[in-house]
Amino acid sequence: MKLLLILSILAALAGPEQPLRVKSSSGALELTLSNPSGRAEYSVSYRGEPVIGASSLGLVTSVGDMTQDLTLTAVEERKVAQQYTLRTAKTSRVEYEANELTATFEGREGRVLTICFRVTDSYVAFRYGLSVRHPLWEPDLHRTVVYSEASSFNFPDGTTTFICPMAEPGSRWAHARPSYEEVYTPDAPMDVPSAFGHGYSFPCLFHLGETWVLLSETGVGSGYCGAHLGEYQKGKGYAIAYPSPDENGGYGTAFAAVPLPFTTPWRTITVGPLKTMVEATAAYDLVEPLYEPSTDYQGGRYTWSWLIWQDQSINYEDQVRMIDLSAAMGFEYCLVDNWWDQRIGRERMAELSAYAQSKGVSLMLWYSSNGYWNDAPQTPKHCMNTAIAREREMQWLRSIGIKGIKVDFFGGDKQETFLLYEDILSDANRYGLQVIFHGCTLPRGWERMYPNFVSSEAVMASENVFFTEEDAEREAFDLTIHPFCRNTVASMDWGGVILNRYMSRDNRSRHARTTTDIFELASGITNQAAVQCVALYPNNLADVPQFELDFLKTLPSSWDETRYIDGYPGRYVVLARRHGDKWFVAGLNALKEPLTLRLTLPMFAGQEVSCYVDDKKGAPGHARMKIKSDGKVKVTLQPRGGLILCP
Ligand code: CA
Repeated sequence: MKLLLILSILAALAGPEQPLRVKSSSGALELTLSNPSGRAEYSVSYRGEPVIGASSLGLVTSVGDMTQDLTLTAVEERKVAQQYTLRTAKTSRVEYEANELTATFEGREGRVLTICFRVTDSYVAFRYGLSVRHPLWEPDLHRTVVYSEASSFNFPDGTTTFICPMAEPGSRWAHARPSYEEVYTPDAPMDVPSAFGHGYSFPCLFHLGETWVLLSETGVGSGYCGAHLGEYQKGKGYAIAYPSPDENGGYGTAFAAVPLPFTTPWRTITVGPLKTMVEATAAYDLVEPLYEPSTDYQGGRYTWSWLIWQDQSINYEDQVRMIDLSAAMGFEYCLVDNWWDQRIGRERMAELSAYAQSKGVSLMLWYSSNGYWNDAPQTPKHCMNTAIAREREMQWLRSIGIKGIKVDFFGGDKQETFLLYEDILSDANRYGLQVIFHGCTLPRGWERMYPNFVSSEAVMASENVFFTEEDAEREAFDLTIHPFCRNTVASMDWGGVILNRYMSRDNRSRHARTTTDIFELASGITNQAAVQCVALYPNNLADVPQFELDFLKTLPSSWDETRYIDGYPGRYVVLARRHGDKWFVAGLNALKEPLTLRLTLPMFAGQEVSCYVDDKKGAPGHARMKIKSDGKVKVTLQPRGGLILCP
C-alpha cells in the first residue's frame, strides 16, 4: 500500500462569497463548498447536473456549536493516490485517485472545525476534525461529546428512493431491533415518512433519472457511534442522525464521546450510473487496516443445519450429517448454530470438532453477544461481552480446532456497541478465529479494518424465507436490490443458496421456495461474502440434478474483480465476478414474467462457456454455448429464474 502526495498547496482564500470547487480527475464529479452567513454548506454535481443541492455541514459538540459562526480561514488541496489489496470483499486489488480539499473553519473561542473532502470519479466523501487553538488553557476539554451532526443530503425534487427504515428500538422479537432487517420499498417518493419514524439505515440508494446516488458511511470502529439518515424534510433533504437513546435497552450514550483533537468517520456519496453503485470502493478506500492478521485466514463455503432444520437439529447426530455433507461437497466449513452448549455440550463439541477435522472440515460456532441489551434467550450467552469471558472462551475454541464464530443479537448503533464489535474482532484474531455477525449493524469498512472480519447479516436474510410465505415470496425482489445497495458497501451473510423446494426437513411440507434452482445457484455469485453459506441439506445430494451439485463444488467464495453487466434494483441484476483468471457471470430475474436480455460479455468473447439457465417451466438446464467474437449474447431469464455463464 502506498500513499502518494503529488501536490500540496495552501491556497489563497477567495473570500466567503466565492465558493470553493473541487473536481474529480475526469471532471465528472464536482464538489462546491461555501461559507454563507457563518455556516458551512456543500453541494455536488455530476456531469454538470446537480445531484445534491445546498446542504448543511457541521457538528454540535460539548465544546461548541460548530454549525454556526464559522469563518473559513484556510484551504489545503492535494492529490491522493493509493493502491491496496482486499481479501474478503468484491475485489482484491484497488487503485484509486482522489482530489482532496481540507477546509478549516474557525468557530467561537478558538474552536476549529476542519472538513476534509475527497472527490474521485465515483464518489465524494467527507469527514470532520475538531480541535481547539489553546487546549492547555482549558483543562476541561478532554471529555468532549459530539451530540449531533448537521451533515445533510438535499436531493432534487423528483428523486426516488430505495431505502430501508430504521426499526423502532427494542421492538420485535426479544426486543432485539434495530438490526438492519427491514424491507425496501422500490422507487418510493422522498416525502413519505419512514415506516417507524426513525429514518433510514445505511446504505441508502437514490434514483435521479440516469444518475444514482448511494449514501453510506465508513470507518466506524470503537471511536464513534454509527449513524443513519433522519426523516426527509422538504427543502433540506435528509440529515445524519445518531442512535436513538432507546437502543441497547436504553443503556449507553446516544452520542459520540471523543478525545480532542479527533476526526469523525467518513460520509460517502457514491454518484453515477448503476455500474458505479456496483463497482465503487468508497467503503474501503477511506479506511486502514487496524491490526495484522494472526494467521492466513481462509475463505470458503459452509453448511448450516439451522436454516431449515432449526433448533431441533442442534444435536450431535444431525451435526455429523452436516459435516459429512460439507465433506461430500468439498466445502471448508460447517456452522453449528445456537444452543450447542446445552444440546451437545462442551465435551462432545470437542469430539464433534475432531470428527469434522478428520473429514477436512472446520467448525464455526454460534454465540449470543449478550450482555443485557435484549431478551434473546439462546445460549451460549455471556461469553462474548467481556474481555475475561472472551479470553477463556477463545482459548477453548482454539484448543479444539474451531476456526470461526458467529455472534448474534447486538444492541444497536451506540458507540459502546461498536467498541464491542471491535473488541470481539481483535480478540478473535489472537486466536485465529474469523468472525461473522448476525442481528447486527452494517459493517462500515470492516473488511479492510479488521482482517478476520468475514461478513454480517444486517439484511432481511434467508431465515425469513424459511419463517413465512410472504418473505419467501419477496426473496427474488430482495436479492436483486442488494447487489446495488446493501452488498455493494459490505459483505453480506444472506444465509445460503437454498435447494430444498419446500421449507421443511421432509422437503414436502410447509411453504415452497418461489425461486428456481438456477436463481439460487446464481445467487451464490451475486451475493458476496468470503465465507459463504450454501444451505444444502443431505437430501439434496439425491433430490437435485447432479450438475447443480457439481457447480456448487466449484463455486468460489472469494473474488478478484466485480463488474456490473445489466440490471435494475428490485427487478433484475446481471453481474460478472472474476476468481483468478475465471469469470462467472450471474443473473437473477425478480419479475413474474420472462426477461430477454442482450448482454455484452467481453470476458467471454469467442469462447465456449457453460450456460446454466431455466427452461420455460422453470426446470434447470445446463449446456455448453459458444459466445460470438464480439461478446454479444442474447439470453432469457425465466420468472424468478437465473442465469450463470462460466468456463
Ligand atoms: Ca437475523
